Amino acid sequence: MVIDTNGFNPGEGPGLYLHVPFCQSKCRYCSFYSEPLARFEPAPVIAAMIAEMDQYDTTQVATLYIGGGSPSVLPCDLLLRLVGHAAARCPAALEFTVELNPGQTGAALFHDLRRAGVNRISLGAQSFIQFELDLLGRIHTPADVDRAVRQARDAGFENISLDLIFAIPGSTLDSWKCSLDAALALAVPHISAYSLTWEDGTLLSDDLAAGRVVQIDEETDRVMYELAIDAIAADGLKQYEISNFARPGYECRHNLNYWSNGDYLGLGPAAASCRKGVRTLNVADLAAYTRAVESARTPVAESEILTPLERACETAVLNLRRRQGIDLVQFKKQTGFDAMSLFASSIQIHREQGFILCEGGRVFLTQQALAIADSILCDFADV
Ligand code: SF4
Repeated sequence: MVIDTNGFNPGEGPGLYLHVPFCQSKCRYCSFYSEPLARFEPAPVIAAMIAEMDQYDTTQVATLYIGGGSPSVLPCDLLLRLVGHAAARCPAALEFTVELNPGQTGAALFHDLRRAGVNRISLGAQSFIQFELDLLGRIHTPADVDRAVRQARDAGFENISLDLIFAIPGSTLDSWKCSLDAALALAVPHISAYSLTWEDGTLLSDDLAAGRVVQIDEETDRVMYELAIDAIAADGLKQYEISNFARPGYECRHNLNYWSNGDYLGLGPAAASCRKGVRTLNVADLAAYTRAVESARTPVAESEILTPLERACETAVLNLRRRQGIDLVQFKKQTGFDAMSLFASSIQIHREQGFILCEGGRVFLTQQALAIADSILCDFADV
């Protein structure tokens, strides 16, 4: 399971993502496509996902990721059918992650997943403060996260990741520190920490517009992020991407492939794929998706062919999310472009401001650039 931490290796093979489009209820901040399980029959959708998988040669898939939605909301036999089929169809997979909601797990589920070939668990902890979980509309408690980690370990999982969210309305530096401490006390080898994003059309954005909640100010958001970087690093997890931290060898290979701009295939309703410069998006509708697959039609609703220049820009933006940044030799091999020439003016501007370094054949963001990374990356999105 140990991987080369300097090796963002697009040659490792494509990733396969399975989007389970069901949740128990909608979290107040979430804009992902998912439907409440109580209102739909999941079996035909999962059968269609399995049939969609069978349309592809997946023998070279290097990483598998079942996310959503909430895979753990499915009846256990249905989730295991999907897991078992994916494992059988992807014999070369080195990493097999399933995303779980801590409020929907039990000892038996972890044992079943482990036996079925899953070797990495991602738990949506988000916060260890009950008030914040309630505000986000999460269905679990902080105690559920502790129990889920313990049960995962008991079932033989070492590779466990926790997702955390900061800058939640009503949170403070102290409450964020409490969540970080609680997460670090669980001694998992991987943590993802994201600032809350305000997506249009979510219940939380409606609350904001109506004045029912107040957004955390930019400065506090930045201090919370830096607090996370310092606290997590002090615990021995290395920041390898803007929002991701891991003990050596526990970086998420599936996402490393994504940040390398490697190919990935997404299956299921609303799943996105990008293969050989063609980006596609499956239809975000359970009935339309299932009907399309059952009648041997494509469930793809949108498709876009990227030009070589667009691919190069996309590769640069994704690469710069990693702390090791753009590997100039790899970039040239992958895109045909010389990154130093292609992005000469953006590199120069941000170098002068101390936000970018060019060293050892790589171009990467400095520590001080991380909190404003999105605005810097915009300058690489087109030339
Ligand atoms: S469980 Fe995840 S996918 Fe489902 S509503 Fe909540 S955040 Fe969205």
